[in-house]
Amino acid sequence: MLSTMNTRPFDASNHERIAESGRRVLAGSDIAREDARWLFELEGAADIFDLLSWANRIREHFKGNKIHLCSIVNIKAGGCPENCRFCAQSAAYQTDTPRHDLVDSGAVLKAADEAKSNGVTGLGLVAAWRGLQEGPVLDELCARFAELKESGKVRPDASLGMIRSQKVADRLKAAGVECYNHNLETSQRFFPQICTTHKYEERVQTIRYLKQAGIGICSGGILGLGETREDRCDLAFALKALGANIVPINILSPIAGTPFAGQEPLTPLEILKSIACFRFILPRQEIMVAGGRSVNLRTAQSLMFMAGASALMAGNYLTTLNEPVEKDLQMIKDLGLDPDWDKHGFSDQVGKGI
Ligand code: SF4
Repeated sequence: MLSTMNTRPFDASNHERIAESGRRVLAGSDIAREDARWLFELEGAADIFDLLSWANRIREHFKGNKIHLCSIVNIKAGGCPENCRFCAQSAAYQTDTPRHDLVDSGAVLKAADEAKSNGVTGLGLVAAWRGLQEGPVLDELCARFAELKESGKVRPDASLGMIRSQKVADRLKAAGVECYNHNLETSQRFFPQICTTHKYEERVQTIRYLKQAGIGICSGGILGLGETREDRCDLAFALKALGANIVPINILSPIAGTPFAGQEPLTPLEILKSIACFRFILPRQEIMVAGGRSVNLRTAQSLMFMAGASALMAGNYLTTLNEPVEKDLQMIKDLGLDPDWDKHGFSDQVGKGI
């Protein structure tokens, strides 16, 4: 049986209000917060498709037909002392996720070769731990980033948790890190429901250190944690205020053993609507659909581009498998879109403060 969400008739006044916001964003103005809140509350499939068509126009206008591809390699997995309730890598939960210590430099260069041969622009080195401070681990990581940059294979990116001082961020920048992923995850209001071992403000401070160092900011969140639509809206505005360059949107894939294992999944239409609302709020940013996309969007996956996505996380995720890269590339080409091979395009964006 179809839900009422899907069977509501087309509403002309909704159509006009969506169009008004769309025209405003296309003209270069910011969407008003109350209009964005209203978009997040749309329910009917007809209204949501109307919203997607405007999000698609906004993506085309600001991002053209290029789809930016990033990939990640887990350089240290599992055993993280934080207790993020969605995460298979937290030491607080019993999960089947593999654990390993820092991998050697050969493994990183091999991942870079693979990423390059797949046409991926940025390769993020990811570690599960509390965060980075000065010491031998930072020295070793900086040597790996310098080696990766020197190889010229891919853009060296990082996702190494919280940063405790400006000096650490400056050293990463000097070693060649161009972009750092550190998600806000959700709204400030909802954050204590997903993690209690650190504070939202510490995440924000990490992003400030990175920005100050001149490193590009990749920061987004996870949908489907039990947050409200208002939380999603607040997250998008918080990312805008912080000046994120790339905004990854993950969708929860509940993992056995974590407290969110039994979380009710979002519908594909709810996810697509949320991506579209992010595009209205963040028209110039790369909006990247990342973890959980194939399992949650299912057959509606390619509609993420119509919803305004301009970037994809390609290859496997940290703790879940993804589509083969060839399949993603085929999907992009089938839609008349173009994988963005220009590994310098992102640096240009950071320079322009986007
Ligand atoms: S999300 Fe990151 S910080 Fe939180 S438990 Fe997982 S690896 Fe640790």
